[in-house]
Amino acid sequence: MPEKIVIALGGNALQSKDSAPTAEAQLEVVKKTCEYVAEISGRGYEIAVVHGNGPQVGRIVQASEAAKDVVPPMPFDVCGAMSQGYIGYHIQQALKYALNKRDRNYPVVTIATQVVVDRSDPAFQNPTKPIGSFYTQEEAQALSAEKGYTMREDSGRGWRRVVASPIPRRIVEIHAVKLLWDDAIVITCGGGGVPVVENADGTLEGVAAVIDKDLAAELLAEQVGADVLLILTEVEKVAIRYGKPDQQDLGHMSLAEAARYVEEGHFAPGSMLPKVEAAMKFVRANPGKKAIITSLDKALEALDGKTGTVVTFA
Ligand code: ADP
Ligand code: MG
Repeated sequence: MPEKIVIALGGNALQSKDSAPTAEAQLEVVKKTCEYVAEISGRGYEIAVVHGNGPQVGRIVQASEAAKDVVPPMPFDVCGAMSQGYIGYHIQQALKYALNKRDRNYPVVTIATQVVVDRSDPAFQNPTKPIGSFYTQEEAQALSAEKGYTMREDSGRGWRRVVASPIPRRIVEIHAVKLLWDDAIVITCGGGGVPVVENADGTLEGVAAVIDKDLAAELLAEQVGADVLLILTEVEKVAIRYGKPDQQDLGHMSLAEAARYVEEGHFAPGSMLPKVEAAMKFVRANPGKKAIITSLDKALEALDGKTGTVVTFA
C-alpha cells in the first residue's frame, strides 16, 4: 500500500517576500512549489494538499471593504471561500503541469471546504487574529457599534478587526475527499477551511473566524488515515531557543519532549506553536505514525529520514 501523506503548505509556498502581492506573482511561486509537491507524488506517495490563506484572504477583505461604495462588501466567510478558490485554481493548474511532466496523470481538484467549529469554543470570547484594513479609533468604534466587530489596536499601526481562531471539529466534505482519494489529488481545507457552525435544525452557517491550517490539516490526516502529516514551512527544522545565540535545531521530538518544549515556551504562538501542536495531536491519535515539520525544498529528504523535525509518539 502506498503511504498516504497530508501536506500542509505554509505562506512561503504561495508567495515570496520579495515580490508584489499580486495573483501573477503568486502563480510564479506556486509553480515552483508544485514541482516539489509533484516530486513527492512521483515517489509513489498518495497526497492531499492543504494550504494557508492569511495574506490572500486579508487582501480580499480589504479590497471588498475599500469598494463598499460600489459593491456590497463580502462577508468574511465568503472571502475565505474565495481565497480557497483562487489559490486552489493556481495549484490545480501548476500541479497538473508538474505531474504530467512526471507521467503522473492524476486529476487535481480543489474542494471548497467547510469546517465545523463549536459555537461555544472559548476562542470566540477572545478573538486574536487581525484581518483586513487598518482604521482610526473613531472608525473602529463606529464599525464595532454598527456591525458588532471586535476591533483592536494593532501594535501602533492603527485599529483592525480581530476574529477568533476556534478549534476545527469536523470537515464537512470529508466523504468527498475520501471518494476522490484513490483517483485524484485533492486540495482541501484551504486556509484551515471555511469555518461554519451547526444550527439546531442541521443547517450550516458561516462564521467570521480563522481556523489554523495546520490544525485543519491534522484533522484531515486523522480522517483519511494518513501515514504522515507533512507540514512544510520556511524553516528546515524546529528549534528550541529559536533566534537566540544558543539555538538548537531538532531532528526529532517525542510527544513528551514536544510537550515539555511547548510548556517552556519555545514555539511562537500563531506560527510554530500550532505546527507543533498539530504534530503532537497527530501522533497522539496515531502512536505508530509520524509528523514531519520541514521546508518545502527539504521535504523529500525529510521523508527519507535525512532531515526535518520528526515528531513521533515515543
Ligand atoms: P507558515 O506560513 O508556514 O504557516 P509561519 O510563518 O506561520 O509559517 O511559521 C513558521 C515560522 O515560525 C518560521 O519561519 C520561524 O520564523 C518561526 N518560528 C517561531 N518559533 C520557531 C521555532 N521554535 N523553531 C523554528 N521556527 C520558529
Ligand atoms: Mg507564514
